[in-house]
Order: sequence, then structure tokens, then C-alpha cells
Amino acid sequence: MTGGLDLAARRAREQKRIRIMMNAMRAEERAKLKGGEDAVAWVKDELCIGCDQCTIVCDDDAIELYDTPLASPIMDVDVNRKARVLRDPCTGCKLCVLACPTDAIIMIDR
Ligand code: SF4
Ligand code: SF4
Repeated sequence: MTGGLDLAARRAREQKRIRIMMNAMRAEERAKLKGGEDAVAWVKDELCIGCDQCTIVCDDDAIELYDTPLASPIMDVDVNRKARVLRDPCTGCKLCVLACPTDAIIMIDR
């Protein structure tokens, strides 16, 4: 029978294995993205939920949020926020792409 300590040890091993696997996947994903001075981030506004994560990670103040009417017949919300990238200050660092929970940001040629 599996005891509490065994279970905790198995759980810790499994957590470690999953963390290593996810870090490797993230590194691979990051390496595939274009970036640097020839690239600039772009927000697909139809996917943006205005969560503010990208503005938090952007060290270059290259993202701003703006208000837009909410296009929903079932929710009564006056404004919805969307993110937009300011091309000039964007350094192409890709951090916002990795931070966005809805994959709303892509890197495009500058
Ligand atoms: S790529 Fe970097 S600098 Fe450009 S908007 Fe995203 S986080 Fe900011
Ligand atoms: S992190 Fe993504 S979803 Fe959130 S505000 Fe930025 S672009 Fe929009």
C-alpha cells in the first residue's frame, strides 16, 4: 500500500518532471519566435481581453491599453480594453508574446 510519504515523494518527482518538460517547451517556443531590431510586436485585437499582462512585462513602455465598445449582445459592459503596441519604443524583445494568455500578440517584420 502507498503511504503518505511515498505519495508525497512521487508527487514531487512528477512535479519536477512536468516543470522540466514545460520549461523545455517554453524555451523551444521562444527560440522559434522572430525578434530583435527587425521585428515588432503586433496585437490581434479580436483575441485581446485587456488583461494588462503585456504592459506589465514590457520594460520599454511600448504597449498601451485603450477603451473600445464591447461587442457582445449578452454582456452589459460599457467599455472593454484592448492593447496596442507603439512601434517606435518596441525593441522586439518578445516578452509580451510569452506573457499573453490568449496568444493575441505576434511578432511581425518591422
Ligand atoms: S516585444 Fe518587448 S518591447 Fe515590444 S511590445 Fe513586446 S515586451 Fe514591449
Ligand atoms: S496580454 Fe494579451 S490579452 Fe492581455 S492585454 Fe495584452 S494583448 Fe491583450
